[in-house]
Amino acid sequence: MSNGNGRNPKFAKTCRVILTEDCNRSCEFCCMKDPEITDTFKRVTGNYIAKARYSIVNITGGEPTLNMHNLITMVCLVKYYKPDAIVYVYTNGDLLTREEADILKVAGVDGINWSPHIRPDPLTKNKWAFIHHCVIPVRVRIQNTLLYDDILRYFENQSMEFVEWSIGDCYDMPDEDRYKIDWRE
Ligand code: SF4
Repeated sequence: MSNGNGRNPKFAKTCRVILTEDCNRSCEFCCMKDPEITDTFKRVTGNYIAKARYSIVNITGGEPTLNMHNLITMVCLVKYYKPDAIVYVYTNGDLLTREEADILKVAGVDGINWSPHIRPDPLTKNKWAFIHHCVIPVRVRIQNTLLYDDILRYFENQSMEFVEWSIGDCYDMPDEDRYKIDWRE
């Protein structure tokens, strides 16, 4: 049976999941404001996604750390049905604390994709270095306009993988099944 995205969840390997459409920021360039993109995400329950047993589950938003309870619930559901699934969380990083990173680690998160939206200050850099080295590996998705030499050196010194992106890359999304969680059921 197709999942509505034209792919069969039984055979698909990767999915992208919108945990919430809410965000603490309101970026002009946000891809999630474009109905041509958001309409490609099928609204389903968390159970539906977990039971499809994807090998890789990318949890995004909006800002998924806005609702830690739902985020942890989703991670645990995915790991319950497929313990070796790899779960990544995509975040702008503003709200996540070191303590919450610990909890995500225990729940089973394998990697965090951090997309800073402003130039990171020293405290922010310390927090992310700690999370990367002591808790969960961090990959940085950085807007090209923020990629100053000192920021680049910081990522390199911390051995953080990073991916550069540009405003307008919205239609460059990888080929993966797309869902929006319906928390009402
Ligand atoms: S932080 Fe990310 S999800 Fe939130 S408005 Fe900006 S681009 Fe969109």
